[in-house]
Amino acid sequence: MIARLRPVIGMGEWLALLGPAPVDSVQRYERGFAELMEQGHAVAFPYGRTGLAFLLEALGIRGMEVICPAYTCVVVAHAIVQSGNEPVFVDCSEGDYNMDLNLAEGAIGDRTGAVVATSIFGYPVDLDRLDDVTRRHPKIPVIQDCAHSFAATWKGRPVQRAGQASIFGSNISKLITSIFGGMVTTDDEVIANRLRALRAERCLRPSLFKGMRRRVYLAAANVALSPVLYGMTHALERRGVLGGLVDYYDEGSIEMPSDFLDGTTPIEGRIGCAQVAAYPRIVAHRRKTADFYRERLAGIDGLVPPPVIEGATYSHCVFRVGSEKREALLAFARARGVQLGTVIDYCVPSMRAYRERLGARFEYTRAEQFASEVVNLPLWVDEGNAVRVAAAVRAFFTKQ
Ligand SMILES: *Cc1c(COP(=O)(O)O)cnc(C)c1O
Repeated sequence: MIARLRPVIGMGEWLALLGPAPVDSVQRYERGFAELMEQGHAVAFPYGRTGLAFLLEALGIRGMEVICPAYTCVVVAHAIVQSGNEPVFVDCSEGDYNMDLNLAEGAIGDRTGAVVATSIFGYPVDLDRLDDVTRRHPKIPVIQDCAHSFAATWKGRPVQRAGQASIFGSNISKLITSIFGGMVTTDDEVIANRLRALRAERCLRPSLFKGMRRRVYLAAANVALSPVLYGMTHALERRGVLGGLVDYYDEGSIEMPSDFLDGTTPIEGRIGCAQVAAYPRIVAHRRKTADFYRERLAGIDGLVPPPVIEGATYSHCVFRVGSEKREALLAFARARGVQLGTVIDYCVPSMRAYRERLGARFEYTRAEQFASEVVNLPLWVDEGNAVRVAAAVRAFFTKQ
């Protein structure tokens, strides 16, 4: 069975998992990451959300409103709350799943501390439009959430460089992985130094045991999510035996994971270095696979293809299907040995925890719609398996 995601790890990563990890691996990873992103500084954190919470603190933002997309990973909102601020959610634009920047600008007020702009699914934020906003509101810092995009570009401009700082997540579901972990990049030395100071003060030294667990986790995930074994893994997952392998949110609570301050381990730094080196190859493969799906699944009634936007990096290859048909499509593909995903299947302000916290302030028509309609196809697959995936999806529509 083909899993909806799988961390792409090569020989370098396997050798790293089996060998010792030098003590300076995390610093090396930071240097390699900063270079890849063409930024002056990169500071590693246990999670992307930890980095975002510390970044807001480093920017001196507290007791303020932070504007962010309604249609994003819920951990972004959790991190905003964790930092002592309140999220203000903004609905999507029609074209690309990203936050509507006109609405975002309209949401700016006296209490606005920052804007988190996200390149969701790897679609670059419209930097021309964002420039207009920052020109009119020069005092409000922009944080780029690049967890889905890494080095995506808007008309040739790298998104991660267009703001005060950028955050990244690198768990096994992201474009590149450091097993768990997150990164903040910036060209501003003052911000970088504050981040390092906060990290030194608050984060704990990782235990040797954490490093061991991380090694086992990555090796196990790569093997368990391989086509040969995934049928079995999936059966166990469905019976709840492996609950929580990759799902990580709870409708009703706003909290950080218990280990969100446990420092990054050398092995994670070592894996991160190998993945930074592999990044160009990984992104090229994802683009090629997304183009292949788009081509193979063109012209199907009831299936909305992913938009074509230059510079996109495709953390996910997202189609849309009528919400009443989505479960049937998933089951149909599953019966043909293909697991499809439904990332992101929620609108953050509509989740119970945020509804209760904030009440209904704006409408989120598009975010709600996308949440109920998105279907993402596995991008890590080789050509043969991409053919199988596309055939399974096409067959669902032609049989009806
Ligand atoms: C994954 C992700 C993050 C960071 O996630 P962590 O699990 O905290 O590393 C941030 N933003 C988006 C959009 C994400 O998908």
